[in-house]
Amino acid sequence: MTTIAHCTSALLSVGDELTLGHTLDTNSKWIASALRDLGIVTTEHVTVPDDLPAHAHALRRLASKVDLIISTGGLGPTADDLTRQALARAMDDRLVEDEVSLAQVRAWFTGRGREMPAINAVQALRPSRAAALQNLHGTAPGLMAAIDACDVFCLPGPPGEARPMWASCVVPRLRPPQGRTVRTRVLHTFGIGESDLATRLGAMMERDRSPLVGTTASGGVVSCRLRYEGPLPPEEADALLDSAAREVRARAGEFVFGEGDATLPDAVLGLGRTAGHTVGVVESCTGGMLGQMLTEPAGASAFFVGGLLTYANAMKTALAGVEPALLGAGAPGAVSAATAASMAHGGLERLGVDHCLAVTGIAGPGGGSAAKPVGTVWIALASRGRDADVRRFRMSGARSAIREWACKAALAMLWQRLSGVGPVKLLRQDQP
Ligand code: ATP
Ligand code: MG
Repeated sequence: MTTIAHCTSALLSVGDELTLGHTLDTNSKWIASALRDLGIVTTEHVTVPDDLPAHAHALRRLASKVDLIISTGGLGPTADDLTRQALARAMDDRLVEDEVSLAQVRAWFTGRGREMPAINAVQALRPSRAAALQNLHGTAPGLMAAIDACDVFCLPGPPGEARPMWASCVVPRLRPPQGRTVRTRVLHTFGIGESDLATRLGAMMERDRSPLVGTTASGGVVSCRLRYEGPLPPEEADALLDSAAREVRARAGEFVFGEGDATLPDAVLGLGRTAGHTVGVVESCTGGMLGQMLTEPAGASAFFVGGLLTYANAMKTALAGVEPALLGAGAPGAVSAATAASMAHGGLERLGVDHCLAVTGIAGPGGGSAAKPVGTVWIALASRGRDADVRRFRMSGARSAIREWACKAALAMLWQRLSGVGPVKLLRQDQP
């Protein structure tokens, strides 16, 4: 290790499976975000194949540019695991056997009633001027070294091994620049488009503001990211972010369902539990996906009771009590306000819940008509003692996207009711 401050960092991911597109590099995502929270700026993400010259060259190039390199992968026992050699080459060093590591790798196997395969002995090799990092969750020890004025940490590829080693061996050794605070906050919205949100945020999004405000859209959820970077002490930076978050809520609060790691199902579950209410679902075109989403958060049983999967018209009648007259020729039909409302009311009674969501629509690619094109989805929310909330959406995209959007729109309708913001028109809703 050097003694310099770690102001800048680069991430190096290693493996053919990454460069060839078999595996997504998820390690860089959480490592970059952890470094950011510590105030260390990551200036490059690099991925190299299992190729010694390319790997060693990347290490040397990055070492000349940044104070810190975090690498993952290539520490396994097979011939294509070359991180040890690449590090040695980049350091102009030779490999030596680390006795402690060898004993630890051997103990890992004997602890599981197995003998260490001979090839695992290479995992105990390290450059002579590097130190080994113990792996409590696998066989591959990590490595810690310096290439000139740059500190290098090499962690195993599997996230289940890299994460604990990061926390126990790397974080305590990092030296973030002093006097600089980095704080972030993220608020999640659903049902408002990214440009509409940006318009509402207005001057808050100007690039020279502090905190810096940005938006990201993913799977229909538009998130608003707040970031402070500067000399303020952490408490003052947090207060600044608190006030910016209040401002975001003042401008778009009817769409803000949660912060941080919260998902729409988390938000709905939280409100339902607080109210002591229960919910059920009656699903047609989403085929159970809405029930699946509602059961994603731990503790869902305190709120979610169950659902009826009424895909065929006969099941809408048999399970949810929808009048056959609504479904016949010339009638409103399966994809209509009347049927959606009837499904929701039927579910409310038959499931004995406080709220029932019903979804019926045309997810495509076939089955559309001029009056009811693919992407037409009716969603109804029936609640005890309240008027039903029934809305039509015109969704676009592939079948899977339409079904997923329908579920999220249904959750957003329930969120609006439980949070008390009232029925606010959602993106892609066209009626009422
Ligand atoms: P070991 O051999 O002990 O598993 P290793 O350091 O050799 O560790 P690799 O062989 O490079 O690790 O990768 C093993 C697995 O870890 C990969 O198949 C992949 O599933 C996962 N992995 C590797 N790198 C990454 C990454 N950057 N992001 C997400 N997963 C990764
Ligand atoms: Mg590998």
